[in-house]
Amino acid sequence: MRIRIDLALCQGHGVCQDEAPEVFRVVENAEGYDHVELVVADPDESLRPKVERAVRFCPNRTLSLEG
Ligand code: SF4
Repeated sequence: MRIRIDLALCQGHGVCQDEAPEVFRVVENAEGYDHVELVVADPDESLRPKVERAVRFCPNRTLSLEG
């Protein structure tokens, strides 16, 4: 599973981390908004439903699934 992150859009809301903490975490950024990073680069397929929810519910449309 490939996840694309457009960091320019991320404002650190943390919805993604709430939906799929195995995949996303929000890290502090002293120079601006906190931002998301991947916990694992290629998450297991079993996590797909959680990742899909994170993609859908991110208020800034920061995340997308490539496959
Ligand atoms: S990816 Fe979306 S939900 Fe996650 S921290 Fe960034 S803006 Fe918030």
